[in-house]
Parts: sequence; C-alpha cells; structure tokens
Amino acid sequence: MRPEILYPLFRPVTDLKGVGPRIGNLIEKVAGANLAHLLWHVPSGMIDRRYAPKIVDATPGVIATITVQVDQHRKPPNRRMPYKILCSDETGSLTLVFFHAHEDYLRKTLPEGETRVVSGQLEQFGSDLQITHPDHICTPEEIETLKKVEPVYPLTAGLTLKALGRAINATLVDVPELPEWADQSFVTKQHWPRWHEAVLQAHAPENARDLEPTTTARARLAYDELLSNQVALAVIRKHLRRAKGRPVSGSGALRQRVLKTLPFQLTPSQTVAIDEILADMGSDVRMLRLLQGDVGSGKTMVAVMAMLNAVECGAQSVLMAPTEILARQHLATIEPLAKAAGVRTVLLTGRERGKNRTSVLEALESGAAGFAVGTHALFQDDVGYKNLALAVIDEQHRFGVHQRLALAAKGQAVDTLVMTATPIPRTLMLTAYGDMEVSRLTEKPAGRTPIDTRILPIERLGQVTEAVGRALNDGAKVYWVCPLVEESEKLDVAAVEDRHAHLAEVFGDRVGLVHGRMKGPAKDKVMAEFINGGVDILVATTVIEVGVDVAAASVMVVEHAERFGLAQLHQLRGRIGRGATASTCLLLYAQPLSKMARARLTIMRETDDGFKIAEEDLRLRGAGELLGTRQSGMPEFKLADLQVHAELLAAARDDATLLLSRDPELTSERGQAVRTLLYLFERETAVRNLRSG
Ligand code: ADP
Ligand code: MG
Repeated sequence: MRPEILYPLFRPVTDLKGVGPRIGNLIEKVAGANLAHLLWHVPSGMIDRRYAPKIVDATPGVIATITVQVDQHRKPPNRRMPYKILCSDETGSLTLVFFHAHEDYLRKTLPEGETRVVSGQLEQFGSDLQITHPDHICTPEEIETLKKVEPVYPLTAGLTLKALGRAINATLVDVPELPEWADQSFVTKQHWPRWHEAVLQAHAPENARDLEPTTTARARLAYDELLSNQVALAVIRKHLRRAKGRPVSGSGALRQRVLKTLPFQLTPSQTVAIDEILADMGSDVRMLRLLQGDVGSGKTMVAVMAMLNAVECGAQSVLMAPTEILARQHLATIEPLAKAAGVRTVLLTGRERGKNRTSVLEALESGAAGFAVGTHALFQDDVGYKNLALAVIDEQHRFGVHQRLALAAKGQAVDTLVMTATPIPRTLMLTAYGDMEVSRLTEKPAGRTPIDTRILPIERLGQVTEAVGRALNDGAKVYWVCPLVEESEKLDVAAVEDRHAHLAEVFGDRVGLVHGRMKGPAKDKVMAEFINGGVDILVATTVIEVGVDVAAASVMVVEHAERFGLAQLHQLRGRIGRGATASTCLLLYAQPLSKMARARLTIMRETDDGFKIAEEDLRLRGAGELLGTRQSGMPEFKLADLQVHAELLAAARDDATLLLSRDPELTSERGQAVRTLLYLFERETAVRNLRSG
C-alpha cells in the first residue's frame, strides 16, 4: 500500500481548484494525470520580470516591469482598432495597447489618475514605447510579488502557461517533506538539497543556469529517479533468484545429435555463450541472463542448445516472441533441429484455437511436448506445463518485467534467458536490465556477405525501380519497406498499398504486400510465397522488422529512410545479407534532408556494426529520445538524462546494491524511506515483490 504521506501527490490534477476536465486532459497530455507528475514537469525556460527601469531607460524587445501613472483612456472609433491607454512616469511616456478590449474592465483595472505597475514585453512603435496586452497589472503595493522570475513550462495546444503554472504552483504549495532515502553522506558530498527543497528549487529558476540538468536540485531529482529504477530492478532480480534454482545439467546427448546435423560450425562466441548458459543452468541459483547479439548473429542456435539441455533432464523449455510472425519464424528454425533430436515442438499463439489449442495444451501438460514456441499466449491462465525449466524470451524490448515474471511462474525455479538484438549502449543497459548477466555474440557466422548501402533521394525512384528489375532478373528477392506514418496505421497502409500498386504495374504479380492490418493467415501466405513461391518483391511496413529470415533476400529498399530510427534501420537491413550473394540496401530519402538526418543516414552507410550505430545514435539524439520511444520498451525517465547523468546512474546502482545487501527487505529506517521512493516513482511491482518474498 502506498504510504499515506504520498496521498496528496497522487490526487488527480482535476482535484486542483480551477482545473476542470478540459484543462485536466490537456495537463495529463503534457505532464501526467496526478500531482506527482506535475512535480516532474520542470521548467524549460523562464520569464524574468526583475527588470524594472524608468521609462527613459527601458530597452524595447525585453520584458519589463514598470510603475506608471495612468493618464488617459483612448477608446477607438471602431472595434477593429486597438484601445489605447496613455501612461507615463517622470521620465517619459508608455502606451498600453489592447485589442478587442472590454472598456469596463480596463477602466476598473487601470483607472485614470492612479498609479499601477504593468509587466510585459516592451515594443517600439514609431516613436512610441508600448506594451501590448501586459501580462500583469497590479497596484504599487503588490510590486514585490510581481518583480520575480516566472518559470516557463512545456505546453500543449490549448493549454496556457497561466493555467499550467497555476496548477503547478498549487501543487508546490503542498509538497510534503519526505524522509531521506538517499545515502546521507553522498547527499552531503554532492551539496544536494533535501528532496522537497530540490523540487521547489527546480521550479523556481532565478537565472538561465538554473535550468540546466546539472544544478544541484535537478541532479538530485534525477538521482532519485535513477535510484528508484535501480532499486526496483535489483529487488525484482533478487526475487527471481531467491526461490532456489535447481541444477539442470543434461547429458549432452541431444545437443550432440543436433550439432552433427548442422552444416556449419558454431562461432567462438556462440560456444562461449552456450558454456555460460549451461553453467548457469547447472548451478542451483536461478539463471537470469541476457543474450545480446546483432541481427543474424545466431542467437536462436544458442537458445536451442539451452533448450535441449533442459529436455535432456526430462524438463521442458519455452521460447516466447513478441509477435506472431516472429514466433512462426522461430518455429520454422527450431522445429527441424528439435526433430533431429527427437523432441516434439508445439506452437502456441493467439491464433491456436479450439481442438488445435486443446491438443497443444495437453501436450504441454502431459510433457509430451519438450519445446513450446509462441507469444504471450504461452503464459495465459489455462496453460500448464508438466515440468518447465527454461524460458527463453526473444524480446526486442517488447516485454515488460512482469510478463517475464508471469512466464517464469509457470514452472518451478525456471531459468530465464532473454535474447535481444538491439545493441544497447552500456549505460542504457543498466537502466533496462540492472546488473543482469550478459552473454554477447560478437562475430557474425561465416558465409555472410557485406551489404552495400547507398543513400538516394526519392526523385531517383525510376532508377531504383530499374535496378530492382535487374536484380530480380538475377534471381534476387527484394524487400521494399514503406515509411511509418506517425500515429496512423491507416496512413501506413495507404502508403504501402500505393507503392504495391505502382510496383505491380511494373513487375506484375511477383509483387506481394504485407502490413500490420492484415489477418494472420493472409500474412503467412504472403510470407510463404516470398520464401518459396512466386513473390519476389515484398512491399511491407515495419512488420518485417524483427527476426524474419529469408536467406535469398539480397536487396532492400527503404522509403523515407530519414523517418526511421537508426536502430530500426539497422534491424531492417539485417533482413538481407544472410545468403551467399552480395546484398544491396537502398535508403531513399525525401528532400530537404536535415543535417541531423543526413548524419544518421551516413552512419548507416559507413558501418554495419550494431553497437557502433547505437552509440552514434545515442550521441546524435541524446538518450532522452532514444529512451523516449514507447515501443522500444526502454524505461522512460522524466528527470534523468543519461547523457548528462550517466555517473549518477552508476552511483545509484552501487547505492542500490549496497543498500539491499544490508537491508534486503527494506525494513530499516532508510529502507522504509526507499519504499516511499519506489511508490513515488510508481514502481509498485518492486515493492510487491518485497512483501511476497
Ligand atoms: P539471430 O536470432 O541472432 O538473428 P539466428 O539464430 O536466426 O540469428 O541465425 C541466423 C541464421 O544464421 C540462421 O539461418 C542460422 O541457421 C544461421 N546460423 C546460426 N549460427 C551459425 C553459424 N555458426 N554459422 C553459420 N550459420 C549460422
Ligand atoms: Mg533470430
């Protein structure tokens, strides 16, 4: 249960005075739905109202706060012209300008003959100095409340700074003082304020430097967020490991049989990875290992060896993939190998229904099936296993921690192997996986040919089509990928359908089409035709991004390559270059190409090293954006920016480790404070694991 002290922060923003459903929705869109989210919505700029000159000294173009005498209202002859109010001080005159003015209101707030303080942007209009629609008007007694710095927040259409600022101010008034969860000596050493002071300071910039992510206030808040991330990961990991593992060490007989049937040798890093995995499985500690390897580096092969090891001990293994296409692809790779070993493999996805599904479930429950391959359908409530010992998760970052836990909960002391092709830079890895053990596949299997990558403007589409025609004549298979139109699958589909129609005019029914809106069987049919049948050009959206393996594919065209992320382009390009023939990747872009976009496409041309691409991507775009993409499944940070706060991440990790080694259940005074921190950043899953443990 959330600690009571946090209740006020977890009220919805609509609890605030003046925030109704409409503004509430806008605030939710830009910052979040509850008051805590408003605290994380730190200023991106500021308006300095401390500049309070005499009129004669005032510089046009800046915001100024000026005390004036109101001399005369000048009502315009018609509504199209502005209402003007002439003002002055002892040094000069200033005109206030209002469009669509309400005279009554202006006469009340700016009565002739009175003194008022006005604040707003100064403009020079001919020889006149003027302010159009001052931001603030008050009496001289109130000047001190006005002469300060106003934070400026990121907004969204329809939401004014005034409305959002008011909501945030109302939240700040009630910020509770929370117990210190960070290590006190570390806080002192960093000269950090306490949490609530840090929040208040972050929202009260006095000068431009205060907006930097490195101020003591912002660094502290970033650290808090990273600490919550690291403690949560460590707790979950510990929980996974706490249930004692069971040693799973097979005889190697099945593995030997399969290795004999392979037309190739394992690469050295495959061999090392397999040894590491077998050692983990053989120990009585639960395995939690990440297998990281570029597209095509042979992760599936490694996984199969681990899966066979479990079956050699009379247990079962599952392999879970994020999409149905991928699950089927894995099945196609794994089933022949399993057959060679005499192991039965079943497929379980959302599409297995009725009798078919019943028989699959029976095979899993009775133990008749040693391998199961599928999607999240593998851990639904009614799925039971006779003796599940190993869960392999090919996730490409699409599964969350709790899904991994749900799958592992299907057996006793299940070892978990997570496979990923995304080359995550070291810093980011820590935030997504904590200190999970890692095996890396560093070299590509022999027999791969390098890919010739070229960057072309879309205007050369005609030439591209001709080149594709020549490649087809030489027996090539071609992927033609159309752009992702943001937030609209419909538009995506329209784009691929257009391109498909256009190419079909040239190449006839050798052109196939696959996109995310198609039904499963229709997708499979096209894929099957592309693999062995009459389809030689596959026009696709990014549904082909992950894992699909067609060895004969040697040409890839990507339209609007500038709209794709580098990691995504790398994944896409990994679909070709798998066979013996030379491969070509054509990245088509639309003009004008920004400098950044050109730099990114150039990286694609210059290297096919996934790690290098990821590092460059991180360097060019910043971690915020890299992490910000929802579908990446990487954690999104609100306050931490890993480009700036990488050292804080390392410190947070060390602190989390030390803390949990001393106080594994978080029961000490500091442990309790850290629990509050976990709730503050909505990491309830972790706390739940503490209690149940
Ligand atoms: P990943 O899952 O890492 O993308 P896969 O395991 O799907 O890669 O392997 C891609 C292809 O390479 C498969 O066709 C597989 O049979 C083949 N392969 C795997 N290991 C080797 C190897 N050591 N030598 C040659 N080919 C290999
Ligand atoms: Mg694969």
